[in-house]
Amino acid sequence: MRIRTFSIIAGSMACNARCPFCVAGMTPANGIGPELPEVNWRNFRKACQLARDSGCTTAMITSKGEPTLFPDQITQFLEELKPFNFPLIEMQTNGIPIADLKPVTDEHLKRWYELGLTTIVFSVVSYDPEKNHKNYIPYRPSYIDLPALIKKLHDMGFSVRLTTILAKDFCDSVDEVKKLIAFAKDNKVEQLTCTPVNKPDESEDQNIFTWTAAHHLSPAQVESIKTFFENEGAAVLDLAHGARVYDVGGQNVCLNNCLTVTPDSQEMRSIIFFPDGHVRYTWQYSGAILF
Ligand code: SF4
Repeated sequence: MRIRTFSIIAGSMACNARCPFCVAGMTPANGIGPELPEVNWRNFRKACQLARDSGCTTAMITSKGEPTLFPDQITQFLEELKPFNFPLIEMQTNGIPIADLKPVTDEHLKRWYELGLTTIVFSVVSYDPEKNHKNYIPYRPSYIDLPALIKKLHDMGFSVRLTTILAKDFCDSVDEVKKLIAFAKDNKVEQLTCTPVNKPDESEDQNIFTWTAAHHLSPAQVESIKTFFENEGAAVLDLAHGARVYDVGGQNVCLNNCLTVTPDSQEMRSIIFFPDGHVRYTWQYSGAILF
């Protein structure tokens, strides 16, 4: 068995954003609630060992909410990861607590860099601050200054990836994708990922299911975006489960699928560490468990 990505669920369900498609609400809670849970560090070390023994080179700190709301816990995860020498350590965030300098301070960022964090992965829905504002923090006067935040993190030595959910009325056409690529290029973003919002078969939250059903791209829209990448980009890497990485005019772009399960796969895309000590291999099925 080869494990490609080791995902670590940090933080709690708490999030400062209001995404109507929030995956956290679409997948089972598996012991994670609004409070910061105790972490089973013994099992965390076992999961690290399993991932490394299975050839995994990437550890991804993520959350069912916003992980950077608990920056000291991020530091603790990075400290525990250190002995296992993962070459790539990434952290998924909406970026807001980092831009706000609250609760993430520059001291946290410096420490995370020293501890080996390589890539900060921002979730966005567009290059357009107004669309990101509407999706993430409609309760605030404006969105964060994303170009300034990317520059600051580059200056500190981090790489940056933008993971973009492609959704109707946000980023839903070849034209919008081109503008997104131009934004990434202008801001020297190392990696860009485009993931069409999924309409899952099962959902624990009817509102999210309804929103995603109304905003998922039609097969024709997905096909035209795919055709654009095939015609305008050079395919540089095929990842598991149909994701393909392209170079489009010098910009790295990955066209991804999300929430896919292929039970007959020879390869697990990822294993996921839950703070209660359980390790699973899908997000949406509690039964997909290793220990
Ligand atoms: S930022 Fe992530 S966790 Fe927070 S609401 Fe959006 S999708 Fe959910």
